Amino acid sequence: MIPSPMKLTDRARFGTVCIHAGQEPDPSTGAIITPIYQTSTYVQEGLGKHKGYEYGRTQNPTRMALERNVAAIEAGTAAFAFASGMAAIDAILTRLEAGDHVLVSDNTYGGTFRLFERVRRKFGLCFSYVDASDLDRIAPAITPRTKYLFLESPTNPLLRITDLAAASDIAHRHGVRVVVDNTFASPSIQQPLRLGADLVVHSTTKFLNGHSDSVGGIVIVRHDDDEEWMRFVQNAAGAILGPMDAWLVLRGTKTLDVRMERTNANTMALATFLDAHPRVTRTIYPGLPSHPQHELAVRQMRGFGGLISFDTGSLEAATRLLGRVRLMALAESLGGVETLISHPAVMTHASVPPDRRAALGITDGLVRVSVGIENIEDLTEDLAQALD
Ligand code: PLP
Repeated sequence: MIPSPMKLTDRARFGTVCIHAGQEPDPSTGAIITPIYQTSTYVQEGLGKHKGYEYGRTQNPTRMALERNVAAIEAGTAAFAFASGMAAIDAILTRLEAGDHVLVSDNTYGGTFRLFERVRRKFGLCFSYVDASDLDRIAPAITPRTKYLFLESPTNPLLRITDLAAASDIAHRHGVRVVVDNTFASPSIQQPLRLGADLVVHSTTKFLNGHSDSVGGIVIVRHDDDEEWMRFVQNAAGAILGPMDAWLVLRGTKTLDVRMERTNANTMALATFLDAHPRVTRTIYPGLPSHPQHELAVRQMRGFGGLISFDTGSLEAATRLLGRVRLMALAESLGGVETLISHPAVMTHASVPPDRRAALGITDGLVRVSVGIENIEDLTEDLAQALD
């Protein structure tokens, strides 16, 4: 056995945990980086005698290294990696039974809304939506069949913030477990399990991987019964993350903390620029004092994240802007090293009916930017020339 030089102390800081947690030198060679175990099965020494690995869907060392790493990064006890963020969210729903109710924060990611309304409702689950950023609305919306309070904070694309600790208290008083989709913030900015949430889910496609080269999802748990179920359903339903993608995400998490530092700084600078621009009617960013929950953001978040939404006033103005940017890429997704710009009403939220979009404030002039880690001068110059 090769001795591990990478023992973490309990006092290890976040950036150190990102790099080292769950990582051991490869037992057969000492390779410092966990190899991509691209195998479907494992040879057994004899009947019932094996090294803990039987079949690739059930166990894979690369995937398990990622799961240990992200469990530590999110301050959970275990994590389970899936083929996409949607597969991870769906796995959480498999804990429920027909007739159970999920209370959802009301401008949740469009794909999540679609999964809830068009797939899982058919199987007898009930969903209702609440502006969870207004804590007074949560308790009245809980029913005797409510099993989960499903939150995103900040929300997509309006960046509303929920007080996660207070919302968790309310849910727990009613025997309801709290699920937080932490994709938008990343654990570098907030760790919902430390604030009282029961489960955390990520699209690893975004900040955790960070390089726009893999689609995946992960669920992080802190209760034994959730761990037992997720381990069972990951294998039983089988929507696992493949070894190559697990390796890519594992490489991404090592630099999460430094990427987020630069992302936070770039985004704050860009938000300040947009806020002062005469062609922008509204800039939404939790780091701006004008954000309605700025004080909560200061209290709850370590940095304000990499997403800005701003209103150009009309579909025509947004279309013009999107056609003129040179460095920023017109694309869905977020959380990569490169800056992406998108139009929520036509792109990410097209599956949300127009009247619902209007009620939420997702206007036709709204543009969302996922700010990357390029030099800020180049990003500001690009937006300036596109707006002018
Ligand atoms: N949750 C949020 C907040 C997202 O933005 C996304 C994707 O954009 C998802 C979940 C779904 O993740 P995936 O695309 O990896 O299935």
